[in-house]
Formats: sequence, C-alpha cells, structure tokens
Amino acid sequence: MLYMIRSPWILKKIFRSCIWEIPSKEKILYLTFDDGPNPEATAFVLDTLKLYNGKATFFCLGKNVAEHPDMYARILEEGHAVGNHTYNHLNGWKTNDKKYFDDITKASRYIDSGLFRPPYGKISTLQTKYIPKAFGMKVVMWSVLSGDFDAGLTQEKCLDNVLLSSKKGSIIVFHDSAKAYSKLKYVLPRVMEHFGNEGYKFDKINL
Ligand SMILES: [Zn+2]
Repeated sequence: MLYMIRSPWILKKIFRSCIWEIPSKEKILYLTFDDGPNPEATAFVLDTLKLYNGKATFFCLGKNVAEHPDMYARILEEGHAVGNHTYNHLNGWKTNDKKYFDDITKASRYIDSGLFRPPYGKISTLQTKYIPKAFGMKVVMWSVLSGDFDAGLTQEKCLDNVLLSSKKGSIIVFHDSAKAYSKLKYVLPRVMEHFGNEGYKFDKINL
C-alpha cells in the first residue's frame, strides 16, 4: 500500500487553507480518530484516553453516528471533539461536487461541528475553498498517518511510524474502525504511555 507517514511539504503548500498541524512550543499532540463511531473500537479508544487523561478529536461518519448514537453521545459526554467526515465516506476526487457537498450536509444533521476531514485526504482545491464558506467548517488534514488501516503493516512498525514522526503540535491519524482495531489496541496505549512519560499532553482540536 502506498502512502506517506509524514505529510509532504508540497501538499501542505498546495492546500494552504487546510490545517495540517497546530504549531506549538508546548508538548501537545492532537490524536484524531476517523471513521467511527464503532461499538468496540470507539469504546476502547475512549477507555484508553480516560486512562491517560487525554482528549482527542473524532472525525465521525454520519452513517455510523446514525447507527451508534449512544457511542457518539459518549464521545461528547467525555469531553472530546467531533468532526464531520461525510455521511458515506466519499472520495472527493471521484465524486461530483454537488453529491459531495450533499453528503457533508447529510452528515451535519448528525454531527454538529466546525471541523471537516476529507475521507482518504482526497479533496479538490475547489472543495477546500467551498467547505469553509458554505459550511463554516475548517478542513483538517494531518501531519502523521499511523497506517493502522494497513493490513500489510505490523503493529510494531505502525507504532514506530507514530513514535518517530510525531512532534510538538502534530495531528496524528488513527481509525476507530473494525478494520484497524487489532492494530489500534496495540499501538494507542503505547503511544500515550511513551509521550505521556515525555511530558506530552493530548488535546482535542479547538479552532
Ligand atoms: Zn476515513
């Protein structure tokens, strides 16, 4: 599977209006979880965040919020942030704009948020400009991709990806999905243990 762990500078330059990281002098990391809520994986993430006293941001799919409203409510009750990740996990490069924006609108009936993350990180420059204007949402990408969704990656390598690439202000992507769960169970507590011992705090995205 071909993807980059660290987001390349050229992409950040082209998509200048998107948020890629939140530069800080303080030891802060922004953990983000895409594609939930999922009964098992999201519950595990919430328990782990509580254990290490961290806050995080969940980019939810509208269809999963519709299916698991209790888990969505628990995310909010426990003080985390949520973001819109479309209703049906659409690819912005392959979907016409009207259909794409309609899907965001549909998701926004279930997810009340000023944050949007495009599925697969695939979005056109027109879409990045339209979304803040039409929906009042900031488009949030990431600086570190854990690769937890990649079946061809070992859990140890996935952990290394995060430990070696993260720094102050990094936005890190995990997935609270059935597909990523086995890897997430291994990686997330170790990431929080490691950076917690180094004095890092885990915060939600608040823009
Ligand atoms: Zn996704």
